[in-house]
Amino acid sequence: MYAPFEGRRQEKTRDRLCGRIHTNSRIHSNGRIHLNGWQHTDRTEQEQKRKTVMILAGKNKFERNAPCWCGSGRKYKACHMQFDEKLRKYQIAGNIVPDHSLLKTRADVDGIKKSAEINMACLDAVEKEIAAGMPTEDIDRIVYETTVRMGGIPAPLHYEGFPKSVCTSINEEVCHGIPDTKHVLKEGDIINVDCSTILNGYFSDSSRMYCIGKVSEEKQRLVDVTKECVEIGLKAVIPWTHLGDMGSKVHAHAVKNGYSVVREIGGHGIGLEFHEDPFVSYVSEPGTEMLMVPGMVFTIEPMVNMGTDRIFQDADNGWTIYTQDGKPSAQWEIQVLVTEQGHEVLCW
Ligand SMILES: [Zn+2]
Repeated sequence: MYAPFEGRRQEKTRDRLCGRIHTNSRIHSNGRIHLNGWQHTDRTEQEQKRKTVMILAGKNKFERNAPCWCGSGRKYKACHMQFDEKLRKYQIAGNIVPDHSLLKTRADVDGIKKSAEINMACLDAVEKEIAAGMPTEDIDRIVYETTVRMGGIPAPLHYEGFPKSVCTSINEEVCHGIPDTKHVLKEGDIINVDCSTILNGYFSDSSRMYCIGKVSEEKQRLVDVTKECVEIGLKAVIPWTHLGDMGSKVHAHAVKNGYSVVREIGGHGIGLEFHEDPFVSYVSEPGTEMLMVPGMVFTIEPMVNMGTDRIFQDADNGWTIYTQDGKPSAQWEIQVLVTEQGHEVLCW
């Protein structure tokens, strides 16, 4: 359904990974496709709901005096019992709520933070060295060496066959650009470097934009507005409100500035796995999507396009996503914990 973009082979939807990557997603039954950064999860919203129902059905699922499921060592009645009852009330009222597997314990959050130290050190190291004339292969080297030196593992390396340690997406490349010696940065480029780390089984994930030398005013504005979108999204991370409240604000800010937001690829839960539920959309409606509950960790990472929101996937490498009209795209990514009071940014 897409006309090929000049000079590049375009690929129709392929059933790669979990079989639900559809670049022609607009005709999908629920109007959108879940594609979590790299891939969507294989659980549909319906399945998610069902699983949650099973977990939360019945107040007496957990013994009042038994140790709490969260691992605190406290009795359930003194720890998460009230929390579970609240969650159940929201669920009965028709909200999509997370199951316990998506709620991080204090130990999980500590583990993710240590992982995030490496992830942010990688992006800091890139920031120091990135310049015109540098092949993206060098960015991959910086990320790999920094990660390994600090005891971590680059999460993208060999993930579903991805060949490198980081994603480098230049100008009209929306995401999943593969570092190599052929992509050489030049003055005026904008590039997203998307870095993800595993440390002791805990995953961190963030990405930043870098402007190479002097970039055009219009590219600079795209980069700045996209960052504002993330900041606006973060402010809307309020416990017991919906992901759609956050996503709709991100979308509104992009649209107000004349841009579009990619629909098919979004953020995701993360922490114990690279990509967990929920899928996080930035074109969603207020009051929809999963409830943001304390203990959830997910990414805010809108891909904002200067022109059309339409995208296509590279047929040759099977990964890189491009804007269909060849206009630039920008993305910033942070990893956020929902807290009782609001939120905490774990990785940026
Ligand atoms: Zn507990």
